[in-house]
Amino acid sequence: MGRYTDAVCRQCRREGEKLFLKGDRCYSEKCAIQRKNYAPGAHGQGRRQKVSEYGLQLREKQKTKRTYGILEKQFHNYFVKADRQQGITGTNLLILLERRLDNVVYRLGFASSRKEARQLVNHGHLNINSKKATIPSMLVKVGDVVQVKDTSKEMVKFQEIKEQAAYKTPPEWLSVDVENFTGRVLAYPLREQIDTPVSEQLIVELYSR
Ligand code: SF4
Repeated sequence: MGRYTDAVCRQCRREGEKLFLKGDRCYSEKCAIQRKNYAPGAHGQGRRQKVSEYGLQLREKQKTKRTYGILEKQFHNYFVKADRQQGITGTNLLILLERRLDNVVYRLGFASSRKEARQLVNHGHLNINSKKATIPSMLVKVGDVVQVKDTSKEMVKFQEIKEQAAYKTPPEWLSVDVENFTGRVLAYPLREQIDTPVSEQLIVELYSR
């Protein structure tokens, strides 16, 4: 499957805000957007032009895709699924994105970024309900138990993660036992429990054109 090959920090600079794609670096003074807060490219430092309504909607979609690390077609599939569900389409969309296994691993604090979470899942370090789970896009359900495999827990990587995870608080819809690298899905997130700074209604408007 294709992936973004552009430098990760350029994506934040393009959106003009932090998307927290690089783990701990995003919280340090090395963050690129703190040093170069203008769009990448030759004209990045020029005067920003007035953005059209369509432009705003497009940027919001791009920002959301980049935050969750999802490509265009898959993102559109999430939208179609969200639109078919009962309730508010934009909220449904965000809930689907939050339910992705890579996002849940990140939210539990078992990875410092969604990208790292995706790698950990791809490399077979995670179980769901005691069964190996290697598909980052898999959607978790209420009651699911997400756990780092016993054979992986002693890896240096996870020991480092454990130290950092002890200082992180998972969202209310998840519970975590850092000592045992175990998390549980207590409920699906409410909109106010999703801290991704996105105006999902703009995405709905974009796809409704
Ligand atoms: Fe974005 Fe993180 Fe890079 Fe800063 S360090 S620009 S927040 S990916």
